[in-house]
Amino acid sequence: MIAPMATPLGSVLERDELTTGPHGRLTVDVLDAWLAPGTVLEVVVPGRLACARCEGGGCDACGKSGAIRLAGDEQERSLRITLSESARRVRLVRPLGEDAGLDQLVVELRPAAVPSDFCRRAQGESGRRAIIPLLFVLGLVSAVIAALVLHR
Ligand SMILES: [Zn+2]
Repeated sequence: MIAPMATPLGSVLERDELTTGPHGRLTVDVLDAWLAPGTVLEVVVPGRLACARCEGGGCDACGKSGAIRLAGDEQERSLRITLSESARRVRLVRPLGEDAGLDQLVVELRPAAVPSDFCRRAQGESGRRAIIPLLFVLGLVSAVIAALVLHR
């Protein structure tokens, strides 16, 4: 019988469950290449998050709405996440400050061909290096559209 691996990070996260306010959940599509230790992601948290306590079913923490609404503009809802070893699920405690109305944010990282538009990789990248993936994505989108049209 193989016991599940307990990581130091995991035990820290369990203790953080004790916060009492709203918990939000956010799924972020990221490129596979981004899922490496030390990667810094810049995420603009959407103004409306799924409630992580009830998975959208409605509970006291979210006023039975299943969702958590965040105040503030994009600047105030921006945060940086530094990825640790092979993390696919990151739990952040009050990531937007004490007054943002969000006690915890669970970020699920999902490998995808195209990253979420509210997420980008932060690094000392030159402008040129940032443009190349954009061109790649545009090319990919064009190819998909062409394939769909031809398929009819
Ligand atoms: Zn809820």
